[in-house]
Amino acid sequence: CGIVGILGEHEAAPAIVEALKRLEYRGYDSAGIATVNAAGALHRRRAVGKLVNLSDRLVHEPLPGLAGIGHTRWATHGAPNEANAHPHRAGGVAVVHNGIIENFHALRDELAARGMAPESDTDTETVAMLTQSFLDDGLAPVEAVRATLSRLEGAFALLFLFEGERDLMIAARKGSPLAIGHGEGEMYVGSDAIALAPLTSRITYLEEGDWAVITRAGATIYNAEGALANRAERRIQMDA
Ligand code: GLU
Repeated sequence: CGIVGILGEHEAAPAIVEALKRLEYRGYDSAGIATVNAAGALHRRRAVGKLVNLSDRLVHEPLPGLAGIGHTRWATHGAPNEANAHPHRAGGVAVVHNGIIENFHALRDELAARGMAPESDTDTETVAMLTQSFLDDGLAPVEAVRATLSRLEGAFALLFLFEGERDLMIAARKGSPLAIGHGEGEMYVGSDAIALAPLTSRITYLEEGDWAVITRAGATIYNAEGALANRAERRIQMDA
């Protein structure tokens, strides 16, 4: 029930845990983080229950990397176990999601016809698989996400991370809020600005149907029609 993403200059995983703690009030049953490390490799850790279970695991099995996405899950499709915890991964794509993908059964059937089998019971994993199928077709990450979003029905906040891409996150909002945070040479994403309060007070809210291509240099935001969208940056005053 919470999403956080960081493209930073420091280790992402510890900062993501801290930001996820600020979203704990929303309730959740499991949590997880994926990072892209210095070599471009994508790795994830997930744990059922409280965030402390995830942070304890990270002590013994750290997740290095300056780019990462994190999630607290409130299960809608699939039991609250580790296999169903986010981030979900297919090939070189990791995805965190709040909401419900209504047409995931139909998408799953299409992907099965291409020989792609899910590893979880979630609607969310289908999104990662669909994006990977477009990468397999030769699309670049941004185009693969654009193609993916055009196929999704339902309500979602989504955040994508890619193997081999240490300076890229892609966020999408349809029915679930998402805020982009601007730092000094760093960029952040959060379900709400409260999650990002210790990191930045400079926030851009995605509007309904928007999606954003985010690098450390900034965010390029598109509206639901795919046209460039100008969304104001605000200064949010909050107790960090
Ligand atoms: N529908 C997704 C799942 O059950 C996302 C749930 C959420 O919003 O946390 O995994």
